[in-house]
Amino acid sequence: MPIYLDHNATTPVDPAVLDAMLPFLRDDFANASSVHSPGQRARAAVDEARESVAALIGAKPAEIVFTSGGTEADNLAILGVIKASNAPNKHIISTLIEHHAVLQTCQALEKEGVAVTYVAPDANGIISLDSVRRGLCDETVLISVMHANNELGTIQPIEEIGRIARQARIPFHVDAVQSVGKLPIDVREIGADLLSLSAHKFYGPKGVGALYVRSASHLEPIFRGGQHERGMRPGTENVPAIVGMGKAAQLARQHLAEDATRIAALRDRLESALCESIPGIRVNGERAQRVCNTTNITVPGASGESLVIALDLQGIACSTGAACSSGAIEPSHVLLAIGLGDVDARSSVRFSLGRTTTVAEIEQAIGVIPAVVERLRALSPRFPATIPVAVGRAN
Ligand code: PLP
Repeated sequence: MPIYLDHNATTPVDPAVLDAMLPFLRDDFANASSVHSPGQRARAAVDEARESVAALIGAKPAEIVFTSGGTEADNLAILGVIKASNAPNKHIISTLIEHHAVLQTCQALEKEGVAVTYVAPDANGIISLDSVRRGLCDETVLISVMHANNELGTIQPIEEIGRIARQARIPFHVDAVQSVGKLPIDVREIGADLLSLSAHKFYGPKGVGALYVRSASHLEPIFRGGQHERGMRPGTENVPAIVGMGKAAQLARQHLAEDATRIAALRDRLESALCESIPGIRVNGERAQRVCNTTNITVPGASGESLVIALDLQGIACSTGAACSSGAIEPSHVLLAIGLGDVDARSSVRFSLGRTTTVAEIEQAIGVIPAVVERLRALSPRFPATIPVAVGRAN
């Protein structure tokens, strides 16, 4: 098994989650809407999972709408608010560093005449309250800002943004896909009307997520076809996956504090060892508050893509923030938004640690990564042969 440092892409399914799911794949396969007793057992299991997911974020069970994942939750939140609004002109405030599930949904709405302001972050990847305030106008019908950024790990001031939204009486959506299980979350404290979660980011299965919908929120469903999930998300419930998400939510509550401290120490050890041993590297978002597990590093003289491949060959799984579209590797929109140039954005890698990451793995990675970087740099025509060894971290 490689040293897996890509937990922001996805996490392994916790063995206890798998154990909880298996009976619902094998024997208890009934449709949760069926009246017979097997159906009632499936319904009870879905209800129990709903309670666990609600408890993880301080919500009421009736406020949880299960979806097929974070992408669908983001789509339902944004499209649902826009569809429910009968304002003649509609305006959304979001940010330049959102996940594509939010960005591309907003971009699609722009084509239908909805105006969108994409607030830029500062150089550390943080959205300022002033820039959100400046974006407000009479037509604003939704503010959508993520909690933790998937590439940088930076944590946005969402309680304060929630306050701005409440004062202006504008619905507030939070994409919390990368913060659930890493940070304590209370939807009432945040003041969120809508909040997206995805099970596979916190040791649950892929293909299941949820949208928290505050009781009084106005939301139109984006699918039609039945009364499942109170009509907000029709379609036969994926009972095994929902049960898995419920178990993962219970475990996340149990593990949260301990995981955060242990993983942050490992992340900090990795980061400082790499900064000491690899001249010229910069930690992106270093000066902002970040979730415990993420470090995003620019390595001048080595392309992120080559680094990921070379490290993979050495048994280390990590990632670039880049998205591959139409065969071309695009530089990360998040790194460009915090002010990196095209070349630096393409020379960055993300290491994201998790619950199963061990001290031994991090020490092994620290032993391997500098040599790989040195090799790639030696092949780079752009990188100077003499590297200023004293260069430290970015300001
Ligand atoms: N939002 C953020 C911040 C994410 O990091 C991701 C996944 O990487 C998503 C949304 C999409 O979640 P899913 O993979 O469950 O569709």
